[in-house]
Amino acid sequence: MNIEKIVNRDAVPDYIVKRVTDLTARDLYEMGVKALGVDLDNTVVYDGTDRLLPGVLPWLDDLRAEGIKVFILSNTNSPRAHRLGRRLRLKSHGSSSKPAITKLIRSAREQGIDITEVAMAGDRLFTDVECANSAGAVSVRTLPFKKEVYFASFTARERRKEEIFIAAHRGEFLEPERLKYFRGGSPLAIYEDIENE
Ligand SMILES: [Mg+2]
Repeated sequence: MNIEKIVNRDAVPDYIVKRVTDLTARDLYEMGVKALGVDLDNTVVYDGTDRLLPGVLPWLDDLRAEGIKVFILSNTNSPRAHRLGRRLRLKSHGSSSKPAITKLIRSAREQGIDITEVAMAGDRLFTDVECANSAGAVSVRTLPFKKEVYFASFTARERRKEEIFIAAHRGEFLEPERLKYFRGGSPLAIYEDIENE
C-alpha cells in the first residue's frame, strides 16, 4: 500500500450515492451542477459488458428533460466508449486515463461549462473520484454493484487500497451532508454486491 494513497484526500468523495441512477436533476442542481460525467464499468454498465444497469435509459431521459448535460468519461478503449455513447445518445470520451484530468477539463470547456459546475460520478475512488476532485469538479462516488470479473486481480488490489483508504478516512465518509445523498447501503461498503439481476 502506497502511503500517498492513504493521505491523498483527493479520493474522498463530495457525495455518495448507491447507484448513479439515484442521482436526480434536483440533487445535481442542489450541488450547483449543470453537467454530469459518468464512468461506464460498474457505474452505468455491468463491469466489462455492454449490459446497462437497470433504469439507466429512463434516468438519462429525466436528466435530459431537466437540462442536465450528461457525458461519458471512461478509461475503457475509445471504440467501446463511443459504441455505448451512440446507444445512450451521449458524448463519450474513452481512454481517459483517469485520474488524469485532461479529458474532464476538455469536456467541460467544450460544453462551455465551468469545471466547478461539472460533477463526475463513478465507482472507483482512485480514478473517478480523484479525477473529479483534482480537476476542481464535484465528485460523486457510486457503489460498484458487482465484483469485477475482468482484470480481476488488478481491480482486487485497487479495491483493497480503497478499503484501507476508507478505513483511514472513515469519519469523512460518514459526514451528514454526504450521507444525505447516500440512498441505501453503507458509505463504508466497497460493493453493493448484487450477484444476479
Ligand atoms: Mg468503473
